[in-house]
Amino acid sequence: MKTIFEKSNGTESITLTDKNTQVNFLDKDFLRINEIGLPQLGELEVMRHYKELSDRNFCIEKGFYPLGSCTMKYNPKVNELLASLEGFTSLHPETADDNCQGALELMYRLQEALKKITGMSAVTLQPAAGAHGELTGMMIIKKYFESISDKRTKVLIPDSAHGTNPASAHMCGFDIVPVKSNDKGQVDIEHLKSLLDKDVAAIMMTNPNTLGLYEENVLQISKLMHDNGSLLYYDGANFNAIMGYTNPRLMGFDVVHVNLHKTFATPHGGGGPGAGPVGVADRLKEFLPVPVISFDGKKYFRDYSLKNSIGSVRSFYGNFGVLVRAYAYILMMGDNLKCATENAVLNANYIKEKLKPYYDLPYDVPCMHEFVLSGERQKEHGVSTLHIAKRLMDENTHPPTVYFPLIVHEAIMIEPTESETKQKLDEFIEVMIKIAEEVKQNPAVALSSPHKTPVKKVDETLAARHPDLTYKETVGE
Ligand SMILES: *Cc1c(COP(=O)(O)O)cnc(C)c1O
Repeated sequence: MKTIFEKSNGTESITLTDKNTQVNFLDKDFLRINEIGLPQLGELEVMRHYKELSDRNFCIEKGFYPLGSCTMKYNPKVNELLASLEGFTSLHPETADDNCQGALELMYRLQEALKKITGMSAVTLQPAAGAHGELTGMMIIKKYFESISDKRTKVLIPDSAHGTNPASAHMCGFDIVPVKSNDKGQVDIEHLKSLLDKDVAAIMMTNPNTLGLYEENVLQISKLMHDNGSLLYYDGANFNAIMGYTNPRLMGFDVVHVNLHKTFATPHGGGGPGAGPVGVADRLKEFLPVPVISFDGKKYFRDYSLKNSIGSVRSFYGNFGVLVRAYAYILMMGDNLKCATENAVLNANYIKEKLKPYYDLPYDVPCMHEFVLSGERQKEHGVSTLHIAKRLMDENTHPPTVYFPLIVHEAIMIEPTESETKQKLDEFIEVMIKIAEEVKQNPAVALSSPHKTPVKKVDETLAARHPDLTYKETVGE
């Protein structure tokens, strides 16, 4: 496809500056000497160009998107409509509290809703992503130990945790100590016990873990940690696995983040914006970032009064537009948030059971919102998980998350989410079975996939080691 510069046909459009105007209020050195060189095309050509580009993208509105751990559920369009109301979009972040009571009330109510959903005592809406929430949570834990003059340096992280967990704890200055999983994919309690000492500040757990399995011994783990004077961090990015059924408070956790841009149906991908609110137990309330949104019975206000606040982690109060979408979703769902969880878990188990005769299933137990297959059997025919993922692209399906978690060889992590119909799940199952048969009969098809996408098979190594990100006019397609 040609770039818009190559398509430029000299159509006279608007001129930004009149050549006869003297721009003498700027230093001469700042003025452009050459023509700006913008492409010149009529409106229709421009529209066609960008429509063609957008058609090359894959999105949930186009097809099935079983990207494990990423919860690519459908985001109802009414959320978009509400977030684009002029009263919200034209509000300046510096507007005085008195003049934006509605927006503050919305944020306050969202905090309250998330308190109820997570079971926590207080919530901040500031963090802009899940990993940002983790960092915020770990900063709170760090400050808590500083405030009681307890020098703790280590954070335990199960090998089945999300990859961002060790990164966030490390960025916060903690030493990371991995905890092994046992053969059931659960935290190895004996190994955990052997690691506990007075240097351990916290454990960061993803529950359900990245195998999609619920930690059965979570209560025992929280007792062990608290008896050791340590805290527990809950990675709740995948809250759609437990929402309405249990919560981190009941499991004994002290800090949790949720991803509004996963569980609470706000768009994500392509780097944001998102929101990763953090909830904390009572004793950690005073460490939250400021401002939190408070209510004195008459007025909503931005509250900077927290005694031991870690400071601000984001300008103003976070990504407001995302908060509006999530609040709309929560209100719309009400008690039915529980049904979202039910369907997310049911859909994952349905696909798992249907596919297990055709692909290896290393942990053959009931899963939560997602499950992990292994492509080992297909590897015997020379077809790896990467090829299977590419092959799926020819079937109007986004590839699942692959090669993660690291504890499963040739991992294929599938998360259907609750928004799909049984018909769509069956279509996907059929495609996966077809690919498994095809790998045995004619592996060449998968090995040379994808065939139908705008960009065909790429050299993965070259693309990773020598990415060519600059446009050169001589390069065609
Ligand atoms: C997505 C995810 C994260 C990170 O969230 P971001 O918003 O991408 O930073 C953390 N933990 C788990 C389990 C996740 O699925």
